[in-house]
Amino acid sequence: MRLILLGPPGAGKGTQAQRLVARHGIVQLSTGDMLRAAVAAETPVGLKAKAVMEAGGLVSDDVVIGIIAERLEHADAQKGFILDGFPRTVAQAEALDHMLADKGLKLDAVIELVVDQALLTDRIMRRAEETKARGEPVRKDDDPEVFRHRLEAYNRDTAIVAPYYAARGQLQQIDGMQPIDEVTKAISEVLETV
Ligand code: AMP
Repeated sequence: MRLILLGPPGAGKGTQAQRLVARHGIVQLSTGDMLRAAVAAETPVGLKAKAVMEAGGLVSDDVVIGIIAERLEHADAQKGFILDGFPRTVAQAEALDHMLADKGLKLDAVIELVVDQALLTDRIMRRAEETKARGEPVRKDDDPEVFRHRLEAYNRDTAIVAPYYAARGQLQQIDGMQPIDEVTKAISEVLETV
């Protein structure tokens, strides 16, 4: 199964992707996770991406497309994958279309978690508090000011990705403000139809 999860930062894409991994035995390809790993390892990509990520901006299309192209070649992605946090621009969506077409592959579903942006900041603040309570480090970009920039980047560059797939009849929308289990259920229902 090949699937894209769309939605603004804080919409719950990562949480839902992890559940789908457990249920369907496919890999979660999160460009955010890959970039954070590159930053931690101080690779050339990481060194380039660090400041942009900390400010809540978008890493350049070339860098992110390169990372995904390389990752899709790995053996564990052959069974299927969930893209979480990619594509974030129309250029990335087009590049993905080309990559998949070259391999003769198709997407099974593009699912957008639709959320109330006014409530997102609350959700992010809660996530930061819960992470802190578990004694784990809080992501720098979950800081309220940086989160605001991430939301701005979403509205400027990424919000048009959902209509891109809608125009191809591929988009399915789910209410992302429901409790986590309900969202999981709604996603499963969509996946049963593909
Ligand atoms: P995420 O964990 O998906 O919220 O991503 C964290 C940060 O990584 C984002 O705020 C961006 O700076 C960067 N990033 C992740 N995925 C992409 C992407 N597809 N395009 C550009 N930047 C990205």
